[in-house]
Amino acid sequence: MSAFIIEGLCQGCQRCVDACTRGAILVFARVANVNADKCIECEECVEVCMHGAIAFRENLEVVQKND
Ligand code: SF4
Ligand code: SF4
Repeated sequence: MSAFIIEGLCQGCQRCVDACTRGAILVFARVANVNADKCIECEECVEVCMHGAIAFRENLEVVQKND
């Protein structure tokens, strides 16, 4: 499980990049990407994202199971 970016909400502001102590987030073409191998699920990125663009993989799986 790692943080992941909801691409349609991400504004590419890089606040999450600056907040991530693991260097797990990079922004390409104004959309953030999370390296799942580096993410420790600390949720620092979620705290700073002003667009609600970061969630966790387990939440996504719950959504998909309910489809
Ligand atoms: S803080 Fe949110 S909106 Fe900004 S780059 Fe990160 S995910 Fe995208
Ligand atoms: S949850 Fe923590 S380690 Fe993972 S991407 Fe966000 S700030 Fe980085």
